[in-house]
Amino acid sequence: MQVYKAPLNDMRFVLLDLLDAGQLAQLPGFEEATPDTITSILEEGAKLCENVLLPLNRSGDEHGCTYENGVVRTPPGFKDAYKAFVEAGWLAMSANPEHGGQGLPELVNFVFEEMVCSSNLAFGNYPLLSKGATALIEVHATPELKSRYVPRLIEGRWSGTMCLTEPQCGTDLGLIRTRAVPTDGGSYRITGTKIFITAGEHDLSENIIHLVLAKLPDAPSGTRGISLFLVPKFMPRADGSLGPRNGVTCAGIEKKMGIHASATCVLNFDEAEGWLIGEPHQGLKCMFTMMNAARLGVGLQGLGIGEAAYQSAVAYAKDRRQGRSLKGAAEPSASADPIIVHPDVRRMLLTQRALNEGARALGYFVALNLDIARKHPDAARREEADDFVQLMTPVVKAFFTDCGSLAANLAVQIHGGHGYIREHGIEQFVRDSRIPQLYEGTNGIQALDLVGRKLGQHNGRLLRRFFHPVTAFVEEHKGDERMAEFIEPLAKGLDRLRNASLTIAGRGLADPEEAGAAATEYLKLFALVAVGYMWARMAKLALAKNGGDNGFHATKLKTARFYMARLMPETSSLFAQLMAGKRTLMEMGADEF
Ligand SMILES: Cc1cc2nc3c(=O)[nH]c(=O)nc-3n(C[C@H](O)[C@H](O)[C@H](O)COP(=O)(O)OP(=O)(O)OC[C@H]3O[C@@H](n4cnc5c(N)ncnc54)[C@H](O)[C@@H]3O)c2cc1C
Repeated sequence: MQVYKAPLNDMRFVLLDLLDAGQLAQLPGFEEATPDTITSILEEGAKLCENVLLPLNRSGDEHGCTYENGVVRTPPGFKDAYKAFVEAGWLAMSANPEHGGQGLPELVNFVFEEMVCSSNLAFGNYPLLSKGATALIEVHATPELKSRYVPRLIEGRWSGTMCLTEPQCGTDLGLIRTRAVPTDGGSYRITGTKIFITAGEHDLSENIIHLVLAKLPDAPSGTRGISLFLVPKFMPRADGSLGPRNGVTCAGIEKKMGIHASATCVLNFDEAEGWLIGEPHQGLKCMFTMMNAARLGVGLQGLGIGEAAYQSAVAYAKDRRQGRSLKGAAEPSASADPIIVHPDVRRMLLTQRALNEGARALGYFVALNLDIARKHPDAARREEADDFVQLMTPVVKAFFTDCGSLAANLAVQIHGGHGYIREHGIEQFVRDSRIPQLYEGTNGIQALDLVGRKLGQHNGRLLRRFFHPVTAFVEEHKGDERMAEFIEPLAKGLDRLRNASLTIAGRGLADPEEAGAAATEYLKLFALVAVGYMWARMAKLALAKNGGDNGFHATKLKTARFYMARLMPETSSLFAQLMAGKRTLMEMGADEF
């Protein structure tokens, strides 16, 4: 059975104790984000997720979206849930107050989004896309487009999409064929077919605002020739009411492995009227505003589903009785012991837990930096925070989603054969957790982004934003005996990461295939060290709070110990793998496969 209660204690620990999120209230515009306000918002959010979204997760998967004559219907219950969601202002939480948003920190929204992803990942895609579209329009569109579209997107009356993918063009956006032809009135006529468009058509909102990549007639070839257009489903009138239908239609929805309640649409644009956003041929740059936000959001999908998988597995492991404890019967009066007595079941549960809690700490730390990057009065502090967010975005997207998928698979394993049976709902986690590894740029592409772009950016400045504080932390606690079991593995991992970074930077300059051959292992090594850093900081805090008691902090220390002893050592094999270089991947000819 799918089980989920928002882990509010852990969320509070990370937010308020570890990251001191109360500091945000000192930034201009965030005055209301006091610890008390943050806590009560999250308690309300938890109620919505547990009571409204979670009960629709299984039924939404079974029923899925339906398509008939261009119309897409979401599963029963989704319309009411969406209404409750937007009426309670959840879409407006971190949106700009100038356009009707509440202007709260992104960090608070981040925590809420984790809960949404845990309770109903498919539902979460609709607000995720709208939020991304809103951010993009706010940053890059003209004041007129902003005032016409942003307030309604924030209200949730209208929703958003991002339209990049075409049949012949996925990762390589230079292959886009959709065309945009200027009209005399200053708008453009967009023609082409987009596929796999999440929330491209549905019945949750009155209007759908598509952000479409297309090429102008004089476009240079490749990714330099891509422009970005805003194309509404219904043409809005000046007073905000809906005018006639635009030339965009849904030709069908995909039947797919998971997230059945998230509509994945084929969209035909037939001379649809659209408006340019940003400069001609600069569309990809603008789209990255949306994609970077969406990449962090997709990372949260991995964490969210990982948490739900863990909680469901714990409930089962305490209930299911098979065999006896290796030390002798734990519950002699019962026919067998619960499977949670078995070391191998604990290995799986603790792997899920240590990855979830570590990822939560790292993810929230990144979100805190996102807020600092936007609001801090000191430009140097803003730049530092922004560097860190940029560096960590591919790490969060790829590692968190890989962990989510691992956690989902472990949940099935813990359920044994029952995990494979549909009615228990556990196999849904495996299917749903698979897509975040693919969309918003596959995880392989995230690794290339880290190695190819982020590693050398500003002469390694981004990298130093990570290495300096972690090195300082290791140095500071080197002599502390109580911290040794956390600091020593972290220091070893950090050394490997430093050596790997230097090697890849050197080899990659001479031969880009060398960097490509090391990228995936490098990203995972990076992530294990980054999460290890967060675990060491959490261990320090737990020790300071009360390391000895059998309460929350003692449990935290046990999980930290598991992470350092059982998961950090993988940095050693990853280092060996990536140091092996490209030869073992590239020496075989394509015809030998
Ligand atoms: C359910 C779902 C929802 C989606 N939602 C949206 C959406 O809302 N909007 C949208 O525009 N798109 C959407 N997509 C599309 C998604 O973003 C793409 O599927 C994804 O980016 C990968 O593109 P592709 O499928 O064409 O794979 P390809 O690009 O063909 O890649 C195939 C494989 O080759 C690898 N590869 C490709 N190029 C390279 C390279 N240069 N170096 C190394 N490896 C490489 C990839 O990592 C992958 O493993 C969605 C897809 C799905 C399935």
